[in-house]
Amino acid sequence: MNQLRIFAAKFFRMKQLFFLKFILLPLWSIAQFLPVQRDEEYLVKIQPTSDKFASVSVVPPLQGLELDSVVFALPRVVPGTYSISSFGRFVDSIIFYDQHNAELTSVKLDDNRWYIPQAKELYRIEYRVNETFSRSGADIFEPAGTAFRKDFALLNFFGIVGYVIGAENFQFEIEIQRSADFYSAGNLPLIERRVDADVFRSPNYFFLHDNPHLLARPDTASVKIANTTIHLAVHSPEKFNSAKQIMPAITDLFQAAADYFDGVLPVDDYHILLLFAGGDDRLEHNYGALEHHYSTTVYMPDLPFDIIIDDIRDIVAHEFLHIVTPLNFHSDRVHHFDFQFPTMSRHLWLYEGVTEYTSHLMQVRGGLITPGNFLDIMRSKMESAEEYDKFVPIYTASKYAFDIHESQYLSVYDKGALIAMMLDLQIIISSNGERDLKDLLVDLGNAFGPDTFFVDHMLFDVIAEHGFPGIYEFAARFIEANQPLPYREFFDMVGFDFSLEGESSSMSFGITGFDQDPDRNVLVVISMDEADAVARELGYQVGDRIMKLNGESMEFGKLENTLVKFFTFSSFGDTFEVEVLRPNKKETKFKTVRLKAKVQDVKLKTENLIEPMENPGEARLKLQKKWLTNN
Ligand SMILES: [Zn+2]
Repeated sequence: MNQLRIFAAKFFRMKQLFFLKFILLPLWSIAQFLPVQRDEEYLVKIQPTSDKFASVSVVPPLQGLELDSVVFALPRVVPGTYSISSFGRFVDSIIFYDQHNAELTSVKLDDNRWYIPQAKELYRIEYRVNETFSRSGADIFEPAGTAFRKDFALLNFFGIVGYVIGAENFQFEIEIQRSADFYSAGNLPLIERRVDADVFRSPNYFFLHDNPHLLARPDTASVKIANTTIHLAVHSPEKFNSAKQIMPAITDLFQAAADYFDGVLPVDDYHILLLFAGGDDRLEHNYGALEHHYSTTVYMPDLPFDIIIDDIRDIVAHEFLHIVTPLNFHSDRVHHFDFQFPTMSRHLWLYEGVTEYTSHLMQVRGGLITPGNFLDIMRSKMESAEEYDKFVPIYTASKYAFDIHESQYLSVYDKGALIAMMLDLQIIISSNGERDLKDLLVDLGNAFGPDTFFVDHMLFDVIAEHGFPGIYEFAARFIEANQPLPYREFFDMVGFDFSLEGESSSMSFGITGFDQDPDRNVLVVISMDEADAVARELGYQVGDRIMKLNGESMEFGKLENTLVKFFTFSSFGDTFEVEVLRPNKKETKFKTVRLKAKVQDVKLKTENLIEPMENPGEARLKLQKKWLTNN
């Protein structure tokens, strides 16, 4: 309510010079609130408040109301979340009006659908929609949620705007009111910018749902990479982060993606809406991102830039590569998405696994990470993939992600990425380095593109037709069934030795039995039984609180950053220092003690070890080069 009064005051100041217009204002504003119903277009007005709700008015197109009765709905499920959201739950005080402002009868069918028997009388629908952010137990992943606050609003339109079932393909004109000093960031085409509102147009409901906006004071940056303009909008309530600082720190990723796809990216504009959580919001929320065809919403805790930037890079790289799958290559299940009762695609391994794998491979090919880093990432995926049910093939986990295999679908990010890696290797090996997974994806993207689709159960036929008949056996063994992936055999062909268990070299700041000291928020030594050589050389004692490493804080929250610096800038043989707080016997007094040791190579027992072969020979090196450098 507050915000509305501010709007009115601003409007008054602006208009008072134009006396005549001011006199006409009451009439004009009524006309705005009661627009003429159009034949083929929805008219939507959204008024976000600073009070965690928005007022919404929807005037559906006459042609969408030609049946005797219709159903008005908000989505039960949206693409990319793999869960049931039921956005109708957030709608309050919904009223259906006829042309004379009289209420029409409606029947609520379920959380998300309202039945209107006198459809031909229906003129406009008004309701209030509550934000998902502050409703605990609502279980909406924040990047797919809505927020209406004083300093910002997150507008995922599927959580705000409803549609008439069967009339999803009419155009939408959406007026979004905002404070005069706010900017609306996102990909919806702008048709009018006013002092206190923006008007956008969307060709249909799918496009509207797919193009979220972030309303906030402008903090934006953009950069052009190959044929694509990348737009970044940031809202950082704690003021730790800004677009100006983040953009240069992620630009190399887009360049690597452009290089990976031979200098051509499949979109002309791409928007990153980066919303940081400040204050209490940081405690209970789910962080991450949701992909869209032309944008991504990223939700992260507002922490200092140095601590958070690596996570932002990983997330942005992954979301951006969704412009390949599913945007340019997807099945009917994705193309004709039913927002009420969708049938899941069997190919989440393709949409999520291939995307995840590619987001790391493009970085090693672009020189942003070393082959060692890349193989470490894949190795850690092998570890997490082992945590899922061995009897559920990835094909089945995808298809039943909503119901019986809800607990398994996250495997698509690990197992799915590994399947993508093995598919890539198989294509490289069987073509003797002439082709790879990227070539296959580019071919498929060219053949299908954003406006068409393959039939879900015919994916492997499509891939076989595009020059990879080996897919049938591969799919039968590793996608439709769950045979162990043949790491040893495939890595051998590209010059790496693979062993299920071995020893790897590592640096250590002195590892032993640690627990957390909740008062000081640091590590405390609780046992020296399994101390490594460095911990013994340092001379830790039980009860030592680990306060600093090379002068930098080891408090939780800062520890990650301190360790990254230590591992990045230390060399074997350097002397380093650990500052501990050492208690007396009764733990009544503490004194600061500085411990020193040399950085040394500590052998760690490691599963799924991938190491360069000693004498790989030319043939293997050729394939390895193709895989990791594309040369
Ligand atoms: Zn994804």
